[in-house]
Amino acid sequence: MAALRERRIIRPPARTQETDRMNATGAPTTLSMFSTDPSDPLNDLRMSERVRPLYEHVKRFIAETVEPMAEKYEALGANRTGEDRWTYAPGQLDLLEGAKAQAKKEGLWNFFLPDSHTGQGLSNLDYAYIASELGKSPMASECMNCSAPDTGNMEVLERVGTPEQKVKWLKPLLAGEIRSAYAMTEVHHASSDARNIATSARLEGHEWVINGEKHYISGAGSPRCKILITMVRSNPDAPSHQQQSMILVPKDTPGVKIMGAMHVFGEDHAPHGHMHIVFDNVRVPKENILLGEGRGFEISQLRLGPGRIHHCMRSIGQAEKALTLMVQRGVAREAFGKKLAWLGGNVEHISRARIDIEAMRLMVLKAAKAMDVLGNREARIWVHMVKAMVPERVCQIIDQAIQMHGALGVSQKTPLARMYAMQRTLRLADGPDEVHHLVVGRQEIGHHESLSEEMNATMVWRS
Ligand SMILES: Cc1cc2nc3c(=O)[nH]c(=O)nc-3n(C[C@H](O)[C@H](O)[C@H](O)COP(=O)(O)OP(=O)(O)OC[C@H]3O[C@@H](n4cnc5c(N)ncnc54)[C@H](O)[C@@H]3O)c2cc1C
Repeated sequence: MAALRERRIIRPPARTQETDRMNATGAPTTLSMFSTDPSDPLNDLRMSERVRPLYEHVKRFIAETVEPMAEKYEALGANRTGEDRWTYAPGQLDLLEGAKAQAKKEGLWNFFLPDSHTGQGLSNLDYAYIASELGKSPMASECMNCSAPDTGNMEVLERVGTPEQKVKWLKPLLAGEIRSAYAMTEVHHASSDARNIATSARLEGHEWVINGEKHYISGAGSPRCKILITMVRSNPDAPSHQQQSMILVPKDTPGVKIMGAMHVFGEDHAPHGHMHIVFDNVRVPKENILLGEGRGFEISQLRLGPGRIHHCMRSIGQAEKALTLMVQRGVAREAFGKKLAWLGGNVEHISRARIDIEAMRLMVLKAAKAMDVLGNREARIWVHMVKAMVPERVCQIIDQAIQMHGALGVSQKTPLARMYAMQRTLRLADGPDEVHHLVVGRQEIGHHESLSEEMNATMVWRS
């Protein structure tokens, strides 16, 4: 790991730990991972005044532009069958592009890149408040160019891309003209341990030749997806955390074979899709490597950045929505002479949901603040903590909201079933829960025993 750190050339965020060690009066303050010191900046979770108008603007935009557009978009895409489902229905993209153009015009674009000249320059903390609003509306993130996996991919390109890679791929991604995918998980290897990634990349002359089989590559089904950031094993003889590299593979390269869509609880999520892809002697120029040969893990560690907790931020919004629906249903229907909300343990379910939402909100805000104050690497335990906590609890809340709705809860008439499936898959797609617990538990045990860093280096992420 020491060697790995020395070789790191990834540009740090503009804000430094030193500047954050100063409080508003310029006096030094104490910083720690789990501080209860009231003067520690980690404990100040307020949104900045500067961003408040933007936050209000985003909420208005979702209500006035995104939601009405999404309704029409869904209606146009309904009832499509067969291969048609992997394209867009006439008029769908016009609606979406119209909303995106409006968002751009109103300055509601690319919030996700913190402290960057390409984004809004938002801190993670400020973004966390906004992302929670984005989570309430399925198309909001895309309308404002803040959706996964593009956010993580843009972040990677922005931090480690060469000028040529940026012009070719980052520019159109930032403009919302194309979409991208992140190709890591493999059919035949346990991919929660990135050391297992075995898709081979061999340098032949001026080209990388790639062979392997991946699945659950989100977004690769869409005709708008043009580029895959692909994790490969380029040097099987190197130390375990220097065997992997990341290579930019244009989706239309000969040999990239899209075999079909993997299902998620019986749905194929067309036209976005979670694709099964075979790389069959795929040849791309040598220059398509990101950062350098053997540096895939370093890039993955970079993905420990803001992109890592966006899902959690949005999940808080989903939990809020589920609780609202649960209560609305609970007071609107009666059984056994009482409103549903007052029957059996339902009051306690509602109470626990509210308590959990507020606890999760504080945790996510604190994780975001830790990234702002300590830097992404130092704040990684916070990131793992929220990832271990949030999707599991949000699943429980949505599950109870479903129950309060009776059969309607699993139907197409409420968003709950879809929301549940989404949250449940996050417990895998964002790294399995167990891996997050492993990192947090190791940190605690590590206070009492000395542990090698080798394991931490393998905890790499997708979204
Ligand atoms: C909807 C969806 C979208 C996805 N999108 C993408 C994508 O865009 N790109 C991409 O590359 N991948 C994607 N994935 C794949 C996802 O990242 C992987 O499924 C996940 O990382 C686990 O890898 P695996 O499936 O190989 O499971 P395995 O590595 O085989 O793990 C299986 C199980 O073993 C257990 N386990 C693993 N490690 C530990 C541990 N340390 N301690 C205890 N138990 C452990 C866990 O229960 C885990 O769920 C997506 C998955 C889903 C469901």
